[in-house]
Amino acid sequence: MTRRSISILGATGSVGSSTLDLVELHSDRFEVIALTAARNVEALADAARRNSARLAVIGDSALLPELEWRLQGTGCRAATGKDALAEAAAGGADWVMAAIVGCAGLEPVMAAIEAGRTVALANKESLVTAGTLMTQAAARSGARILPVDSEHNAIFQCLADNRLSDVTRLVLTASGGPFGTLSRDEMAAMTPEQAVAHPNWSMGAKISVDSATMMNKGLELIEAHHLFGLPSERIDILVHPQSVIHSMVEYVDGSMLAQLGSPDMRIPIAHALAWPERMSTPAQRLDLATIGKLTFEAPDVGRFPALRVARAALESGGSAPVALNAANEEAVAAFLGRRIGFLDIVETVEETMSRANAVAPRSIAEVIDIDRHARAIANDLMREMAA
Ligand code: NAD
Ligand code: MG
Repeated sequence: MTRRSISILGATGSVGSSTLDLVELHSDRFEVIALTAARNVEALADAARRNSARLAVIGDSALLPELEWRLQGTGCRAATGKDALAEAAAGGADWVMAAIVGCAGLEPVMAAIEAGRTVALANKESLVTAGTLMTQAAARSGARILPVDSEHNAIFQCLADNRLSDVTRLVLTASGGPFGTLSRDEMAAMTPEQAVAHPNWSMGAKISVDSATMMNKGLELIEAHHLFGLPSERIDILVHPQSVIHSMVEYVDGSMLAQLGSPDMRIPIAHALAWPERMSTPAQRLDLATIGKLTFEAPDVGRFPALRVARAALESGGSAPVALNAANEEAVAAFLGRRIGFLDIVETVEETMSRANAVAPRSIAEVIDIDRHARAIANDLMREMAA
């Protein structure tokens, strides 16, 4: 394998640090060009130093002097600001991991796509809000989007070289999250600590809350639509509490292909890192005899209305997925800050969607405008709830 040059956006997060672990394990295969983080300057500088990165970008500009100081004598340039983030995304590396959380990743992901890079995409919020613009830009530039989200990576693997026209259905599996068996009344009392304690996966705080509301699966439904081009009615959601099957593809002949593995993000990350080859990971092997039984059930949309709300956003299209995502980011932050209750999250999202306008964004700038407007609506709503 030729040495792959890579950059990691969001290098200090859960996905970003797992990516770095794998890169360090296979250091002969990778050359690190740029790393970015929002505020964790120490972890960013350490990772840049260990991997001889050329560029380190910190989101919070007040931390630039500290980053410069920490990188003294390494030959790695310290930078901050939008242009530096775009440079980290688009300049130098052939392969870019997009692992910033939320809509903040939108512009750098688009920069990498427009530059024709291979983009390993974990940042699902960018596809949810600007999926059409991104897939169109990728078609123009020749960029390749490799899905990192475990479900979409599973589908990508199950598609292999089959024709998309032979696919009848995608089945996204869902663990059900930490509140999978609770009643609505029980969910109402749940705290941020309980919401982020996922039974199978260890992840950042925002996506952990999304798993508890099942909005994560709703976002993944929209993500799957953009990645694979299938309409809403051909993408199903199936609850599978063991998180062993990561998703499935059904074909015209009745065959169903599944990808299995232990719930460890290093598996899909390694798949994207080595693609089209494979590389080893320290992830635990599946011992199916010990697991014994895999179970499945239909999702309960009554207890998890996020599934209905997200499907409605996908089907109405236009600005609805942008409003859905923006309101969700604001509501999750408010829940983590103990300003609203658990059930208020999806209620805020649904109400924001009904108040936001419906015009489809034609550019990233318009996506950002709609996003900003929806955040303002969501925050007004949450103030009303608290009053
Ligand atoms: P995280 O919170 O652990 O890390 C987020 C990273 O983004 C950090 O490096 C942080 O410094 C950076 N960041 C945050 N806000 C930023 C901003 N405004 N500007 C620049 N950088 C910023 O999140 P995570 O769990 O690693 O998730 C990252 C993305 O991957 C999310 O979109 C999530 O939905 C997706 N994802 C994560 C997992 C998982 O297992 N963690 C699985 C599938 C998909
Ligand atoms: Mg996922």
